[in-house]
Amino acid sequence: MSAESVPDVVVVGGGVIGLSIAYFLSQRGAAVTVLDQGQPGQEASWAGAGMLPPGNLERAQGGAAQLRAFSHQRWKSFSTELRELTGIDNGYLESAGLELGFSGEGDRLREETEGWISEGVALERLTPLDLQHLEPALSPEIRHAYRLPAFAQVRNPRHLKALILACELQKIRIVAGAPVMQFDTESNSEGSGRILAARSANERFPAGQFVIAGGAWTGGLTRQLQVEIPVRPVRGQIVLLSAVPLPFKHILNNGARYLVPRADGKILIGATEEEAGFDKRNTVEGVAGLLQFAQRLVPELAQAKLERTWSGLRPGSPNGNPFLSRLPKHANGYVAAGHFRAGLQLSVATGELMAQLITTGTTAIDLEEFRVKMS
Ligand SMILES: Cc1cc2nc3c(=O)[nH]c(=O)nc-3n(C[C@H](O)[C@H](O)[C@H](O)COP(=O)(O)OP(=O)(O)OC[C@H]3O[C@@H](n4cnc5c(N)ncnc54)[C@H](O)[C@@H]3O)c2cc1C
Repeated sequence: MSAESVPDVVVVGGGVIGLSIAYFLSQRGAAVTVLDQGQPGQEASWAGAGMLPPGNLERAQGGAAQLRAFSHQRWKSFSTELRELTGIDNGYLESAGLELGFSGEGDRLREETEGWISEGVALERLTPLDLQHLEPALSPEIRHAYRLPAFAQVRNPRHLKALILACELQKIRIVAGAPVMQFDTESNSEGSGRILAARSANERFPAGQFVIAGGAWTGGLTRQLQVEIPVRPVRGQIVLLSAVPLPFKHILNNGARYLVPRADGKILIGATEEEAGFDKRNTVEGVAGLLQFAQRLVPELAQAKLERTWSGLRPGSPNGNPFLSRLPKHANGYVAAGHFRAGLQLSVATGELMAQLITTGTTAIDLEEFRVKMS
């Protein structure tokens, strides 16, 4: 694209959300520029565990379940599409998942599984003996287990690599090292306005439409446009192990923590959930807690190799659901942020639905629940 030509859409934020929106917009014929303050795809989207819980669009009740189900329907074919386009395999794998409970956790687990059952998502209840046959390395202390066969996973760094290359092949301009500091706007006498351009320290990016997809940093960006969007950073620490051969094959969930086995013998232990501002440190307490959790679930992991640790900043929102919306005070501004613990899973639905909203004004799924209200 020449320096003078004006792109149809500028997307601020090159995480999985911004890149997915850019990809689907470009499929609809829009010329798109993605701006990232650092390198695209290196923040929460890189750090996440890549778990992709299932859904059932025919029976999903409410916006959040519908969004999850819409994404679930598309993950496999989207992964194939990216692989055919780029030659990069994102590691999408239907490894199935187990929801597990120790003694005293039966009621909590039953409550959690009621949602899956009412949605008609395939779920098998396992006795402790079934579990021992299925996954012999799991602790015999686990008393409750449910198997979700359609639970899948993706390798985040590989998915982002594929997504970035797919965007580039579609002539999307991705600008790294372009922190957006402010917006040029104009407003009419009724107080409604338009965004004219996004500005980084040394460049101005004019466009017809603007999407804010700044992950945990979104609140600071929308404040420039007189909208308070309550998205905050929630730190998640991860520990990576390796164990060959893998002692178990399923994704293991116990409450908010989990173990994700990768096909090459890596195992992710995740994750803490901490209010620590924009501090991405790993802490002794966080790492020790995760290691303890892993050994309690799978005792032989005491001998696994400790590979590395990292953390990421989830874009937290008041109810855990994202904001997917036109901005109240700027007719050509949109936001897609606050996906909290589910941004990878929800990225395909978000990309496709936001592209629909921006190019046609209507969406296949009602996004009212995710709308930003006038403050
Ligand atoms: C430990 C952990 C485990 C997780 N596990 C899962 C999981 O298993 N499954 C799942 O679905 N989700 C998971 N998540 C959540 C998921 O990773 C996030 O919801 C998702 O990555 C959010 O994507 P995003 O694009 O909104 O944010 P990000 O990936 O953070 O991207 C935002 C981008 O905006 C850029 N940016 C910010 N401000 C500006 C600015 N002013 N100008 C230009 N660019 C800017 C940043 O540099 C960044 O690249 C996990 C998250 C963590 C941290």
